Amino acid sequence: MSNPETQTKQTLGFQAEVRELLRLMIHSLYSHREIFLRELISNASDANDKLRFEALSRPEFLAGDTELAIWIEADADKKTLTIRDNGIGMSREDAISHLGTIARSGTAEFFKKLSGDQQKDSQLIGQFGVGFYSAFIVAERVEVFSRRAGLAAGEGVRWESAADGQFTVETVELEKRGTTIVLHLKDDAKEFLDSWRLRSLVRRYSDHIAFPVRMPKEGEATLEYEAVNRGTALWVRPKNEIKDEEYVEFFKSLSHGTGEPLTWSHNRVEGKRDYTSLIYIPSTAPYDLWQRDGARGLKLYVRRVFIMDDAEQFLPLYLRFVKGVLDSADLPLNVSRELLQADDEVEAMRAALTKRALDMLGKLAKDEPEKYRGFWKEFGAVLKEGLAEDYANRDKLLPLLRFSSTRTEGDAEDVSLADYVGRMQTGQDKIYYVVGESLAAARSHPAIEGLKARNVEVLLLGRRIDAWVMDHAQEFEGKKLKDATRGDLELGDLASPADKEKSESQLKQSEPLLKRVREALGERVSEVRVSNRLKDSAAVLVADEHDISAPLRRVLEAAGQAPPSGKPVLEINPDHHLVKYLGGRADEGEFRELALVVYEQALLAEGAQLPDPGAFVQRLNQLWARLG
Ligand code: ADP
Repeated sequence: MSNPETQTKQTLGFQAEVRELLRLMIHSLYSHREIFLRELISNASDANDKLRFEALSRPEFLAGDTELAIWIEADADKKTLTIRDNGIGMSREDAISHLGTIARSGTAEFFKKLSGDQQKDSQLIGQFGVGFYSAFIVAERVEVFSRRAGLAAGEGVRWESAADGQFTVETVELEKRGTTIVLHLKDDAKEFLDSWRLRSLVRRYSDHIAFPVRMPKEGEATLEYEAVNRGTALWVRPKNEIKDEEYVEFFKSLSHGTGEPLTWSHNRVEGKRDYTSLIYIPSTAPYDLWQRDGARGLKLYVRRVFIMDDAEQFLPLYLRFVKGVLDSADLPLNVSRELLQADDEVEAMRAALTKRALDMLGKLAKDEPEKYRGFWKEFGAVLKEGLAEDYANRDKLLPLLRFSSTRTEGDAEDVSLADYVGRMQTGQDKIYYVVGESLAAARSHPAIEGLKARNVEVLLLGRRIDAWVMDHAQEFEGKKLKDATRGDLELGDLASPADKEKSESQLKQSEPLLKRVREALGERVSEVRVSNRLKDSAAVLVADEHDISAPLRRVLEAAGQAPPSGKPVLEINPDHHLVKYLGGRADEGEFRELALVVYEQALLAEGAQLPDPGAFVQRLNQLWARLG
């Protein structure tokens, strides 16, 4: 603060993203305009939380002004609405960086997702968390007066902007610690001067805030304030006294969103460990669900004192969509992320919360299948990761999975493993599935032709990564989950005696052909054999039971890793006319070319890229020429 230049009034430009956000806010967000109040109260509450936390080690921060609260006041003459807190406050530098830039991770992602469609974008803004800048939804000009706890009265800051691309900051004298935000309301936002309207909004949006929100008493000449909200944290109250609407509002303030939660679970654990948790399943995925550094986890409190956002240690990664709070009576107040990582107590809470979240999903699936379908659509792909990530909870996870199958249409995923098992063929004892590069590719994968012909249902998965996930599924209710592209199909009693006889005689007859194809293909395959998987296609590539599957191989290759170098097995269909031709009339040169085409077709059908597409095209064209 010694540099006199920084003491004077400065005019600074907003970061480009902020300018864009402000523009959107002002032009796209007309519905739910009142959310600005929730956002500003929530910031004030965060600021109070932070002060309380810092005061643990610096008690002098609280000195003289110990009752933390939030004050809201409207001035009809000046057309201003003022929101004040006595929380942590901001220094001049804080104001410049916090109220001029967006520090949040995923900002770039957010801007990429904006479509220009106002309806969609305004939803996205809601999800992004409009925060402080939402003040400009209703205000043409905003002034912020703030003094950081620990700084002297002369080190206050006044920030001001009319959202025209720039803001000013100047150092001012402020008597009190904390932040005061003055909104100079737009003409069409005067409804927010109305005391009755304000009170009902505060009650609706902020009843669960852990600080009193005070407003001037009605009809009093002298300025006296009264609390208009309850001022107790929601999760502290007994379950049976909390209305559903209150849970929903609390969720909205947690998620900054306008969306409703699908379900929630509020629990108090007492005894050896003492903590309260309130966890929610949102109805829509956040825009950063697939981002590694996206926010996740719970808000952590210790004995009502806010400790941190996004405490990711309390839930596994595959439950990163769960939102909520955890309030522990046992953790030390000075707990840090590092300490959380190595703590047995945390481990035990994580196990309990994981179970609770999975049970909550199980209940939703059972009692409200329609809602569960919505959940699966948004978060199924994330939840599925749990199979690989969380061995201990596999039995809870498996019943939660939903699939497309050869019995369903389009891309709907609503077949559960229980549905599948319930309608298995007599004699069938495996659950078959296939993973393709897309759902359509899985549906027409040659490897399942034979199963379809036998009227055996096959679960269809359309993302490479599913191969990895499903590898961990192994079995459900004693039935093995079987990848239709690997190892023997293990048809068991599904194969009729006639089937068996036919395949044995075919095997004998085909032996010389198999040998020739094997020679023609050289190192490309490990083996060539007669298939019981095929019906219409000439050939299919399969992996050995213990080799990694083709899609998984491609995942590893795409990630720059060298997969183990197991070669695929080529299975051919002796009934196919191309294969028949190959075994009969083809001469030596033609044989090699045709064998290659058969192999390359099989590669294409499983979604692989040909090593030499040009050569394939030439071979095909030569074949055409011969036909002509
Ligand atoms: P977010 O709250 O999601 O971080 P905001 O845009 O709402 O985003 O606020 C940006 C930052 O400005 C906050 O992280 C905080 O550091 C600061 N801030 C906003 N309001 C206050 C306040 N009332 N007191 C202290 N700091 C605040």
